Amino acid sequence: MNEIHTVGVLGAGTMGAGIVQVAAEAGLGALVHDPLDGATERARERIGGFLGRKVEKGQLDANDAADALARIRPVDSIEALSPADLVVEAIPEDLALKRDAFRRLDATAAEGAILASNTSSLSIAAIGSITRHPERVVGMHFFNPVPLMALVEVIAGPATASEVTDAVALVARRLGKTPVVAADTPGFIVNRVARPYYLEAFRIVGDGGSGVQAVDDAMRGIGFRMGPFELIDVIGADVNFAVSTTVFEQFFGDPRYRPHPLQRMLVESGRLGRKSNGGCYDYSADGDRGAVWSGLTRRADGPQPARLQPAQIEARILAAIVNEAASAAADGVATPEAIDTAMRLGTNWPDGPLAWGERIGLASVVNTLDALHASVPDGRYRTVPLLRSLAESGGSFFAQHR
Ligand code: NAD
Repeated sequence: MNEIHTVGVLGAGTMGAGIVQVAAEAGLGALVHDPLDGATERARERIGGFLGRKVEKGQLDANDAADALARIRPVDSIEALSPADLVVEAIPEDLALKRDAFRRLDATAAEGAILASNTSSLSIAAIGSITRHPERVVGMHFFNPVPLMALVEVIAGPATASEVTDAVALVARRLGKTPVVAADTPGFIVNRVARPYYLEAFRIVGDGGSGVQAVDDAMRGIGFRMGPFELIDVIGADVNFAVSTTVFEQFFGDPRYRPHPLQRMLVESGRLGRKSNGGCYDYSADGDRGAVWSGLTRRADGPQPARLQPAQIEARILAAIVNEAASAAADGVATPEAIDTAMRLGTNWPDGPLAWGERIGLASVVNTLDALHASVPDGRYRTVPLLRSLAESGGSFFAQHR
């Protein structure tokens, strides 16, 4: 395995620019290519601005900032990334585009170079299988904004060599990040375990159990920085719906992941969130949050009194999250510790879902799920066997890993 001195970054958009920045700040050479006219220059300017603000705030020495900028080298073709020991691809989320890029990277990459994808939802198997060396292809899933988010999910495809996952985890640490290793499964850890935070909230609002604002207030009340609906407005309802749909399809239509019609309605109505000046909420021209969008409150049967108390809303959403985290653990996506770390760092949740479930009491989580399953028995609330058996035996997710 080559020692990693130079990182190549393919794509200089939101994520690529951030990856270039953290690599250059960590003292690595950073080659970057983007075919879009002016994209690498704009990325360099953005990085320059970011580093300049760090210098102003006294967080970075001016000479170090200048050295970091000098380590960034735009190149004019994919092939010109070949001196890199590790290439991180951050081009649009389109399998055909990524496979074409990996075929070209593979054709010219240095002997022993690692090829990583920042994909959020495509399988590393599907990307790696186009190359001659799928054992050197790995997922390196950064979170947005890259310079601020501490997590990197390192995705081991079915063919990825363990030395490659180890080397990428080490680089992630060098970039100041916390790596967690996850299997090549739909949504990896974060995009899978986070699904019920939104989905259960939509189900509660959709069936008239409570209003949007009350759900957001309830979840903020137990320590989440943002409720599900205000968070969707930040992420973008289109992005949220696309991830939900992809995960649902990749699980072959499992009802646990079935997106909610209200998610589609937001997108079809152009209510994408803050970026479109309105999503689940209305916003003033200054970005201040206003009322809940009337499309989410209108019901044919007239205004409904909320049926659920905040504690019931919290219990439902938390139970769905704990069940999903247990499902990821049972499927061997990652260790229970890694799942909790990923959810704390990748979503800024106040605690890991498995530890949280144990604090609430796994038996109480199972009771909530069983009651929901009794009222909607289509499988969406089925309790994961691992969770049920630990609840019955009084065991812990963490016991066998300590
Ligand atoms: P973006 O649209 O901001 O940037 C993509 C860049 O790739 C553009 O500058 C584009 O010109 C360039 N590009 C297009 N085709 C190319 C090619 N063939 N070769 C080289 N460059 C090419 O996208 P983004 O938000 O940075 O997302 C990039 C990847 O990161 C996607 O796979 C996405 O799923 C993933 N991701 C995004 C986020 C996020 O929050 N934005 C978070 C995690 C992962």
